[in-house]
Amino acid sequence: RAKSAGGNRFELADPEADARTITRHGLTTALPTALDRGEFFIEYQPLVHLGDGSVRGAEALVRWLHPQHGVLGPDRFIPLAEHTGLIVPLGRWVLEQSVRQAREWREICGADRGSAPLRINVNLSPCQLTDPGLVRDTVDILERAGVEPDALCLEVTESALIGADDDLLKPLRRLADMGVDIALDDFGTGYSNLANLRRLPVSILKLDRSFTRGMQQFPADPVDLKIVEGIVSLAHSLDLAVTVEGVETGAQAEQLKVLGCDTAQGWYYARPGPPERLHELTLVDATG
Ligand code: C2E
Ligand code: MG
Ligand code: MG
Ligand code: MG
Repeated sequence: RAKSAGGNRFELADPEADARTITRHGLTTALPTALDRGEFFIEYQPLVHLGDGSVRGAEALVRWLHPQHGVLGPDRFIPLAEHTGLIVPLGRWVLEQSVRQAREWREICGADRGSAPLRINVNLSPCQLTDPGLVRDTVDILERAGVEPDALCLEVTESALIGADDDLLKPLRRLADMGVDIALDDFGTGYSNLANLRRLPVSILKLDRSFTRGMQQFPADPVDLKIVEGIVSLAHSLDLAVTVEGVETGAQAEQLKVLGCDTAQGWYYARPGPPERLHELTLVDATG
């Protein structure tokens, strides 16, 4: 570490920070070719109906199989892809793969599930909202795969929509009008004005993991319980469904069900995994 001993001095590089910069730089340069080389892949994590425990959908989560560094999680490269603009083609690729996978999944696990068709959730970066091709590409992808818009849910983080003006909301509104669900991801972390929710074309709130974490201990933190209860009742009064993320124990699941949450996602049910695993989980669940 450099000493701030006054006078002219050289900053000594922090070796760790240096390694981080090199990797960051290395990853950034490797990103564009990674897409062409097919180094990205998608894992799917089931979304479970809290009422009856059945699999109702899955969230698509992208990973990068880096030739040197092995599997990298999205937190390592999504911010870089956003910074370089690669997120637009990458996001389109994720959407296309996920929608095709949804088609196959529905074929394998029964397209006719009455009022509970299997649905696919795909994360959308704020940069994709300003991509003028978003609506057209989404429609194309759905049509080519033969998947109805109401089988798709796009997840946008609460922070991406805070203070969003009408121009930013327009593409989401068009997609919502077509039947695509829009979910507000990581809800509760963005300090958004709750009254603001009415303005947004969203139909689902995804409660951030920080809320479920407070329910891990037993008995759960009573303040956390009150907060979640309040959010759920507000959401329902606005006709929004509530999904909870990060459910890791049966006790949490039970608690969240009592609080009226609709859908849950987390390691208690399944970790993100390959599509075959998702098919298995869905089929097991359908046959009891
Ligand atoms: P997210 O959309 O909030 O996704 C949920 C994250 O929580 C995932 O992390 C998932 O693996 C993790 N998770 C699920 N259940 C549990 C649990 O019970 N306990 C714990 N501790 N974690 C759980 P992951 O896969 O690392 O993804 C991180 C974030 O990266 C996502 O957060 C999302 O914001 C972003 N992301 C992932 N895929 C994409 C993508 O295709 N496009 C964009 N733009 N962002 C993506
Ligand atoms: Mg998400
Ligand atoms: Mg989330
Ligand atoms: Mg989250």
